[in-house]
Amino acid sequence: MTDTTAQGLSTRSVHAGETRDPQGAIHPPLYTHSTFAFDSTADLLDVVEGRKPGNLYTRYGLNPTIRSLEAKLADLEGGDHALAFSSGMAAEAATFLAHTRAGEHIVCLGDVYGGTFELLGTNLPQVGITTTFLRADEAHRVPEVLTDRTRIVFFETPSNPTLDVFDIPAISAQARTAGALTVVDNTFATPVNQNPLRHGADLVIHSATKYLGGHSDLTAGALIGPAELLTPVAVWRKNLGQMIAAETAALLARSIRTLPVRVRAQNATAAAIASFLATHPRVTRVNYPGLATGEDKRIVDAQMRGGGGMLSVVLDGTAAQTAAVVDQLRLFAIAPSLGGVESLVTQPITTTHHGLDPAERARRGIADSMIRLSVGLEDADDLIQDLTQALDATTSSR
Ligand SMILES: *Cc1c(COP(=O)(O)O)cnc(C)c1O
Repeated sequence: MTDTTAQGLSTRSVHAGETRDPQGAIHPPLYTHSTFAFDSTADLLDVVEGRKPGNLYTRYGLNPTIRSLEAKLADLEGGDHALAFSSGMAAEAATFLAHTRAGEHIVCLGDVYGGTFELLGTNLPQVGITTTFLRADEAHRVPEVLTDRTRIVFFETPSNPTLDVFDIPAISAQARTAGALTVVDNTFATPVNQNPLRHGADLVIHSATKYLGGHSDLTAGALIGPAELLTPVAVWRKNLGQMIAAETAALLARSIRTLPVRVRAQNATAAAIASFLATHPRVTRVNYPGLATGEDKRIVDAQMRGGGGMLSVVLDGTAAQTAAVVDQLRLFAIAPSLGGVESLVTQPITTTHHGLDPAERARRGIADSMIRLSVGLEDADDLIQDLTQALDATTSSR
């Protein structure tokens, strides 16, 4: 394996974690096998007892295709190690279970993915792990809700769907004072735009289903950080059976080789769309990290290298009029995911935040007339043209 530490992100996306294949295959081959054989019992024990890295059994992650992917993931986030998972939720569940016990406590800041909200709010209380949820505008209250039982402070930055940004160094420092780990969901930013570990976070989580996979054709997750924090999580992953399939690991590694070109193009197109929408008469608000002002701009400039491919906008109409705009779009497909090569649109009140009480939605800045865009790799002009026709065709119906 070449030393990639001094190289740029695009070079590392292609080469990190890849060893020369004995047959000369240009990238590591896909080993679908569940088990691996040894020359002797002594050789087997070296791997079982952790003296030598090696391949053993795929559910343990001791499979060359999965280990190669994990080395690439660790490199891109600037972490020592990475664990790959069958989904982003699998990574989150194993992390929370490994680092908290019954009677202990998690702080969750800002809006988070619906599955995360349900895991923390409904599932984990069943095993005695409780969570205090803070709204995005309550970030200053983190120190006050930390207790001597708090083990984790969790947040997404930028968050879904309001694209709020949180100060990773400041919050990590507060968490550390209380003896808690800071876990950042970096799904929206990707390692191209942000490396939370470099800003003080202890662990980084990805739904690799989104930008890392990038083509809406796989489901996977990742956790990156120091070995001593990953080792206990690997045990839960092994015994809950949350391992990524080797086939998915190979497909994900292939996708990551093009991550920087995809995300940089998505950054540029999303920025162009955000600027266009900010001047459109039917748009009352644009949430996009690249257009942040004041304290948010300071945070973006300090910890992000690009604004990302996600934005949300608030229109001037009702929920029904907003749905009409969504339905009028031709290039943006109506779908709840994000991060693929194709542009997607959702109205958060119909998908990610459907179950939330309307008053609570309003407090969180999730208007009935909000739409969220995941910008793909189509030409910016075509996407802007599509938004223009959808907004024009529906204005007259108001
Ligand atoms: C999709 C998503 C998740 C969950 O990931 P899955 O791969 O669907 O399990 C977690 N966090 C964020 C920010 C997401 O967008």
